[in-house]
Amino acid sequence: MIVKFTGWLIIDPVIAILVALNIIYTGYKLISRSASGLMDAVIPEEDTRKIMAYLDSLKEQGIDYHSLMTRMSGQRKFISLHLLVPGEWSVKQGHDMADQVEETIIGLFDEPVTVSTHIEPVGDPSSMKDIGIVRRKIDME
Ligand SMILES: [Zn+2]
Repeated sequence: MIVKFTGWLIIDPVIAILVALNIIYTGYKLISRSASGLMDAVIPEEDTRKIMAYLDSLKEQGIDYHSLMTRMSGQRKFISLHLLVPGEWSVKQGHDMADQVEETIIGLFDEPVTVSTHIEPVGDPSSMKDIGIVRRKIDME
């Protein structure tokens, strides 16, 4: 059509190619954005810091943690961690502590959160064997 006005034969296919490239580019952007929303990723770093600040505050009660792992699937955050409690505690004491930690972490967020914990005796070398399973380390100042 523009050819009619300009007499320039190349212009129509050039515009057609530019339009096609733009459609491909827009389509690629849309697909990659929705695909990364569907795939699991770690939770935002500030959220991890919030959890770590709470867990660090338990240290004065002799409670430690490690192997903190997080992921997000859609809106839901998944948090898992190993909770190190005094070895002489009863199962009930350990479980009560785990419940409290899980509920507190859930309470830190407005979005849905699933927390799972694993209890280990603090100071027992076997508790530290699995310390390597951290996907991302965050240094707390
Ligand atoms: Zn552990």
